[in-house]
Amino acid sequence: MSLETETKKPAVVFVLGGPGSGKGTQCANIVRDFGFVHLSAGDLLRTEMNSGSQNGDMISTMIKNGEIVPSIVTVKLLKNAINDHPKKNFLVDGFPRNEENNKSWEDNMTNVVDTKFVLFFDCPEEVMTERLLKRGEHSGRSDDNLESIKKRFNTFNIQTMAVIEHYGKQNKVEKVNSNRDPKDVYTDVKSIFKKYFGTY
Ligand code: UDP
Ligand code: MG
Repeated sequence: MSLETETKKPAVVFVLGGPGSGKGTQCANIVRDFGFVHLSAGDLLRTEMNSGSQNGDMISTMIKNGEIVPSIVTVKLLKNAINDHPKKNFLVDGFPRNEENNKSWEDNMTNVVDTKFVLFFDCPEEVMTERLLKRGEHSGRSDDNLESIKKRFNTFNIQTMAVIEHYGKQNKVEKVNSNRDPKDVYTDVKSIFKKYFGTY
């Protein structure tokens, strides 16, 4: 094995888009076809919240209000999860959500992983609202209700779009229209992953 192969860092793709834009659904497809490990920052936070951690109450309140949990918590969870899977590539879903998240990622992870690009799912709010309310009938999530959804949109539009624009200026955003049948969305996603990673 060459030195270069031995020292190659795991690849990370950030998966961003409004709540209900289809991030989780498409990540499952990418895992199946390209062997990535899917890390949903929201899922990691919900697991942490339910584990009796001392941050549980804070996380619970922030999720319900669509606010962004401090990076010190989220980056630690992501870093631990990455360390659990040596030699894998990662989809980091729902992170970074604001500039503070992104700065903390850069400070802590630049030496550990190679952040390739942002996969951005673009979808109108009316469509996302409909999907989330439908999901809320069964998800049991404290934030799949109209009041929380509005707060989540607001946070996304103000804070997360700024991060997406930041990566856009570096030509590191792959934008996909996710207001379509999931199969059609995945056709586009797949061709993006083939372009970057070939077939795994
Ligand atoms: N969240 C957070 N930081 C993250 C990811 C999620 O604070 O890096 C919180 C935030 O309150 C968000 C909630 O978890 O609204 C749910 O996030 P998730 O990605 O699961 O849901 P989405 O809004 O993408 O449907
Ligand atoms: Mg999700």
